[in-house]
Amino acid sequence: MTPGSSRKGNNILDTQDGLWDDLGTMKHTLELPKTLQQAVTFFSDPQKTFDYAVMLRWPDGKVTCPRCEGKKHSFISTRRIWYCKGCKKQFTVKVGTIFEDSPLGMDKWMIAVWMITNCKNGISSYEIARALGITQKSAWHMLHRVRLAMHAKDTVQIGGPGQEVEVDETFIGGAARFMHKGRRKRVITERGVKDKLAVMGMLQRGGEIRAAVVPFRRKFHLQGQIRAHVKAQSAIYSDALLSYQGLNGDFVHKTIDHAESYVDGQIHTNGLENFWSLLKRGLKGTYIAVEPFHMFRYLDEQVFRYNNRHLAHDGDRFHRVMSHIAGRRLTYEQLTGKGTDAVHQA
Ligand SMILES: [Zn+2]
Repeated sequence: MTPGSSRKGNNILDTQDGLWDDLGTMKHTLELPKTLQQAVTFFSDPQKTFDYAVMLRWPDGKVTCPRCEGKKHSFISTRRIWYCKGCKKQFTVKVGTIFEDSPLGMDKWMIAVWMITNCKNGISSYEIARALGITQKSAWHMLHRVRLAMHAKDTVQIGGPGQEVEVDETFIGGAARFMHKGRRKRVITERGVKDKLAVMGMLQRGGEIRAAVVPFRRKFHLQGQIRAHVKAQSAIYSDALLSYQGLNGDFVHKTIDHAESYVDGQIHTNGLENFWSLLKRGLKGTYIAVEPFHMFRYLDEQVFRYNNRHLAHDGDRFHRVMSHIAGRRLTYEQLTGKGTDAVHQA
């Protein structure tokens, strides 16, 4: 996470690197897992799992009701639930998180979060279903909820004076190609989406990436993304696409004409090319058929792994996702319906 991040909320872990070292007293009471094997052992213990979840939800140790924010409640330890004296309702540690209403145990959830967070090319719902002994439909829903936690809600701008930022777009063309003919027809006509989706990326060299699905590669859309995500006075490198013309003034813009060459000293977009190949490998190899309107979720997933690639071990990445589970919900209806994705994408 960039220093000076303006993130709000009580995600104490957002502003720190070396998460494990900074957990202070919590670390002494809970020996947190660093590998998948340790995670399986750790999360097979319901009490440890519960303590871990409580620690993430209420880092200051003050349990508050997720419905009315009341602080007066009684704890029923045998069932690990609270009874709120304010709104007279019960709540669990899952209420108000991506796990709310899920009949699946936390042990299964933790393993799913671990795997999607750390598998470089992602993991399919079929693999998760087999690994956990659940249905593919449940696994699919589960993975999308985890992607919601991987989505960076209010990211800070990248770049700045003296910083180099590569910008580029790519087309994701595989989505419809792998689909069954009938499904392809439905997706393409109902959604009004053609075979390919345009994705735009901005990468600060040596730093973080921002990426988004864009409706068109027009100046308005591409430069809108740049101005939203990149600080003024950054050095911007792009190809010679006309949509990028007019950035000079606010930025120091240099272009490379890909018809002539791909690298001219510092001017190239090779960092983003690497990211595109990672993204496409994941989409083609692991996910096979992605509906275009879910593309931004896969993008969130790959961006998360990329931006957290320097963390010391898998446990760090896992923990970072887990610190974002609260305040986010995604029901099956929302996921398969038509209205909510647009809201999230905005
Ligand atoms: Zn309450």
